[in-house]
Amino acid sequence: MSGTVQERVYLHKQIETMDLRELKDMQLKKLKAVVDRALRTEWYAGVLGKAGIRSGDDIRSLDDLRKIPFTAKNDLRDAFPSGLLSVDRDEIVRIHASSGTTGIPTVIYHTQGDLDNWTALTARSLTATGCTKKDVLQNMMSYGLFTGGLGVHYAAESIGMMVVPAGSGNTQRQFKLMKDFQTTTVHATPSYMLHLHSKMEDFGIRREDLKLARALVGAEPHSEDIRKKIEHLYGIDVYNSYGLSEMNGPGVAFECTEKQDMHLWEDAYIMEIINPETLEPVKEGETGELVLTTLDRVGTPILRYRTRDLTSVNPRPCPCGRTHRRIRRIIGRSDDMLIINGVNVFPSQIEEVIMGMNETGTNYQIVIEKNGALDRMIVKTEVSRELFSDNQRDLERLKQCIQDNLAVSISIKPKVELHQPGVLPVSEGKAVRVIDNR
Ligand code: ADP
Ligand code: ZN
Repeated sequence: MSGTVQERVYLHKQIETMDLRELKDMQLKKLKAVVDRALRTEWYAGVLGKAGIRSGDDIRSLDDLRKIPFTAKNDLRDAFPSGLLSVDRDEIVRIHASSGTTGIPTVIYHTQGDLDNWTALTARSLTATGCTKKDVLQNMMSYGLFTGGLGVHYAAESIGMMVVPAGSGNTQRQFKLMKDFQTTTVHATPSYMLHLHSKMEDFGIRREDLKLARALVGAEPHSEDIRKKIEHLYGIDVYNSYGLSEMNGPGVAFECTEKQDMHLWEDAYIMEIINPETLEPVKEGETGELVLTTLDRVGTPILRYRTRDLTSVNPRPCPCGRTHRRIRRIIGRSDDMLIINGVNVFPSQIEEVIMGMNETGTNYQIVIEKNGALDRMIVKTEVSRELFSDNQRDLERLKQCIQDNLAVSISIKPKVELHQPGVLPVSEGKAVRVIDNR
């Protein structure tokens, strides 16, 4: 919906449109302060001490950031439970934890100030997608330790939206709430949006029954084709939302109404993109691992956090006027990469092929097994009901076609299985796409 008036509405205009030089000055000032706070934690006192950093004043320029060692997810686990706490426990008002997609979860302690800052960043993000107090937001992310629930909840309330705290799952009730309260905006994982749509007919819901205008989707990697698919199925605008619990949760980077890459809020985070093998910065615009430093965090300051998420910077100015640089869609995690008989494959490459075809449905799964000494990959995908009841030959042809397209994209010809809608498992949280049985 570019070109609308709402597009030019900013929640924090002065900061969102700040000159990059000014933004950098602000970053340096905040970086010194957060290093001082980090030195008050047991963990960073050790790590920074070894690197010869004894006070924030040892950081004289933004380039000095590179003197600070990286922090990895395992470091957060090693520092568990309180090695990263920089204030008295009395100052802490809430904890959050990551979903544990890749192992033991990590814990972040928030002061009231931390929560207020997070709310402000997320509220700024919602505003950038055109949300206003007139909107009704149905939050279909799970409430609890996971940050997608409470994070967006408080942000939406803070800008006066009416929030329907539905939580995840219970598809039939989601529809009922959407109808009864005239939900205009939903917050969900992209895979859940697709699942929800596949159930509309079963529950007798027509598109006209719903007032839905936009969906904010995040928490898992998804392709541009998935966005288009969701937009087309519901006739709405879909915005990509990126965040991680270590950096608060939602509200780290968000698309504006231009729908072209996500503004990463550089007044709150310093971003770097590094080559995950050499750990050196990549050239601007090249793909690498995103590394983030919290600038405002008080409870659990985190410096140079290796997110393992692969992305690149789009350095071009955005027509919306926001100066904060944009990151491109996350293509996966550096540890998502599958090695199949020596060939490197990212699940996102397979998704792109499947979602790019009209015949294939909304859900898919990748299974990897040992076949003697070799690896075997099976790609399972759902196809529409009509297609399934058609003759066998069409299905065979489609299978062939998927195989050929995959062979072009990933240089592997996996076995392809077609299933009826609703057969493959759906997850209420983050989708589990890869089953590695090797
Ligand atoms: P976990 O690391 O256990 O999944 P989180 O709940 O903190 O814990 O999830 C954060 C991670 O989710 C990010 O590091 C990233 O891998 C993924 N993620 C979040 N939002 C997006 C998005 N919009 N696109 C792709 N991946 C995302
Ligand atoms: Zn923009």
